Amino acid sequence: SAQHSVTVMGLGPMGRAMAAALLDRGYAVTVWNRTASRADGLVARGAALAPSPAEAVAANEVVILSLTDYAAVRAVLEPAAPALDGRALLNLTSATPEEARAGADWAAGHGAVQLTGGVNSSPTGIGQPESYTFYSGPREAFDRHRPVLEALTGRVDHQGEDPGLAALHYQIGMVMFWTSLLGYWQAVALARANGMTAADILPSVVETADSLSETFAFYAERIDAGVHLGDVDRLAMGLASADHVLRTNADAGVDTALPAAVVALFRRGVEAGRGADSCSALVELLAKPGK
Ligand code: NDP
Repeated sequence: SAQHSVTVMGLGPMGRAMAAALLDRGYAVTVWNRTASRADGLVARGAALAPSPAEAVAANEVVILSLTDYAAVRAVLEPAAPALDGRALLNLTSATPEEARAGADWAAGHGAVQLTGGVNSSPTGIGQPESYTFYSGPREAFDRHRPVLEALTGRVDHQGEDPGLAALHYQIGMVMFWTSLLGYWQAVALARANGMTAADILPSVVETADSLSETFAFYAERIDAGVHLGDVDRLAMGLASADHVLRTNADAGVDTALPAAVVALFRRGVEAGRGADSCSALVELLAKPGK
């Protein structure tokens, strides 16, 4: 059936993992990639290599897109536009919400439906039951193609009709992801400058990371209530603490770009007169930087 036959365009680590997961589940898979050699392993497992984007799109109703960004999506789909009528594009390429909306509009103009997806998993998680993807776009397309979506990541969630929503939720997650990873890499650099390895500090950084869930829950309730009570933590304390972090890194000869940015944000909060409030008052400043 149409549901058992899928095209995958873009064979980076993600697209290759997706095509492999579909082959594992018995789907007939057609693939296309700019650099054709990246398809070799999949072709050896039975995937069909389409000679052009237009032929890849023409091959199946369901077309999965896993490209670097939407500039790549345009570069790939524009020459294939006449083949798009009636297609369901599962666009798992990360993007801003605005880009995702514009992409969905463009696809609709060519008779195709786009479901935007934000994949919350690394390539090794693809095809695993616990991996997770946010989708948005037409609910009907989500329901119709759910088996394919669940073959890619075990857990899927439809967040609404707006094709930008999945991109938005994905980017909210990525704000957390990249800044947390940078914080971790900064900690490793500081440890290293002091003769310790990443393995040495793993137990303590994991403990810090684990404690964050409770911290988020504590702040979430107060932030939504508009309460930034300085009863547990004060922004003035936060500034002093961030300054200790900055100077410890500087004294160790480690790059200070990240700790200096943290100090600058806390200082703006104190200068805005919030020094006696909770550090969470920074949310108000981040949300309305001019005020
Ligand atoms: P890559 O950037 O490694 O590869 C994506 C593909 O895009 C490649 O096949 C590449 O082709 C193709 N491509 C890039 N530019 C063009 C272009 N101008 N024309 C044609 N093809 C192009 O990405 P990943 O596979 O790692 O990820 C795919 C998407 O998934 C990205 O949007 C990423 O943000 C997202 N994602 C990735 C995760 C990860 O851990 N890797 C996790 C969650 C989401 P070629 O082989 O010819 O270079």
